[in-house]
Amino acid sequence: MSGPRTAICGGTLATDYGVFAADILIADGRIAAVGRDPAIARGADEVIDASGLVVLPGAIDPHAHFEDPGHTEREDFTTGTSAAVAGGITTVIEHPLTYPPVTTAELYRQKRDMAARKVVCDFGLWGALCAPALPEMAAQWQEGAFGFKAFMPFSEPAYPHVTDAELVEGMQNAKALGALVLVHAESDSLLQEGLERMRLAGRRDPLAHHESRPAFVEEEAVHRALYLAAHVGVRIQIVHTSTPVSVDLVADARRHGLEATAEVCPHHLLLDLDDLVRLGPYGRCAPALRPRALVEAMWERVLDGSLTSLVSDHCAYTIEEKEPGWDDIFAAPLGCQVMQETVPLVLDEAHHRRGMPLDAFARFCSTNAARTIGLYPRKGTILPGSDADLALFDLQTEWKVDASSQQLSKNPWSPFDGHTSRARCVRTLVRGVTVHRVGEIVAAPGTGRFLSCHDDYAAVPAGAAGRVPA
Ligand SMILES: [Zn+2]
Repeated sequence: MSGPRTAICGGTLATDYGVFAADILIADGRIAAVGRDPAIARGADEVIDASGLVVLPGAIDPHAHFEDPGHTEREDFTTGTSAAVAGGITTVIEHPLTYPPVTTAELYRQKRDMAARKVVCDFGLWGALCAPALPEMAAQWQEGAFGFKAFMPFSEPAYPHVTDAELVEGMQNAKALGALVLVHAESDSLLQEGLERMRLAGRRDPLAHHESRPAFVEEEAVHRALYLAAHVGVRIQIVHTSTPVSVDLVADARRHGLEATAEVCPHHLLLDLDDLVRLGPYGRCAPALRPRALVEAMWERVLDGSLTSLVSDHCAYTIEEKEPGWDDIFAAPLGCQVMQETVPLVLDEAHHRRGMPLDAFARFCSTNAARTIGLYPRKGTILPGSDADLALFDLQTEWKVDASSQQLSKNPWSPFDGHTSRARCVRTLVRGVTVHRVGEIVAAPGTGRFLSCHDDYAAVPAGAAGRVPA
């Protein structure tokens, strides 16, 4: 081993395999030892005092939109990943709906090389599953794509939503590559009818957004996507599920042998229809915010483990773009910017208010995503040989979200403004390098690395130290 060694001492580790007091030794960006051995501190060049703190594996967010290239007034890879690490996220997989949409291998390469110079945490890029991209899927995989994103409802003319036949063809391509398929599941036909119904009724108020795309619009498409995935036999992740029926359909498919997983966003766990009315355009996202009873049912599925992964679906817009939605909710672009608050707010709600054990939370925010993407055990856990991607949380001190003074995203707003939390990320390390300390970014753009599906993510045992000494 070469290079300086860092030790993190005195903290409580919250890992996928248990919660316990232990110190961590880091060498060459990897975890070299985990345990309660005085030799760990003695062998380090720098000791980070984690007394009173909880050390989680860095969260993995497989669902981010940084709008870069094309709309960097909304966000870019530097501001987006800065917000990520400030909230304890150390790996982000970004989606292909940028401008132009990443529908070819050439565009994928360009975006990858541009982003690599800007990021402060590790990142990957999903490939595209839409008609123009079908012939390019193998080439995008060749460039490093772990999987491919499809929209069942209308999204953007240059990134057309898929017909069932196109979705099946894309699934077959992905299966041949061993890749994951990610599906935004809402029925386009039912959605268009809902939008037309609201137009004819003259409805432009915030609740009209929800009523244009109620739960069954999502559930029908989840049902269909899972059926087609089972027919093809491809791994599938249903992105941003927002209803308990969707989650149960995924869990049921899993019981029948399909490798199916479900994401959930912070806004679908922490906000409801009352918030949609209050937030107006800033609460407009797809799927829409749901009635409180559905939110509570989603929490049951977080706590019983059937909801696989916490994701942000961070989707940045300027205030100028959102504001017109007060007069006409349909004039506001779809999406919430939530990157920085995702883990701190959901951790607070999950652990302090709903009693979720911290090891279960580690799986929910990190380990499960690492397994689904194919990054485990290099990422998603705290084991000798894993990357030293770590988030240090203070779970005692209460703080309040104030986007105007705290937000590291490019535009200072948050649908969670005013929410309080007793979970705050105070330090974040990416491959052993401190990139964030109490709200400040201390890493240069380009610190993060591109994660390719062709790299080897089998952790290399670090040798001497065991995982948890008796
Ligand atoms: Zn999205």
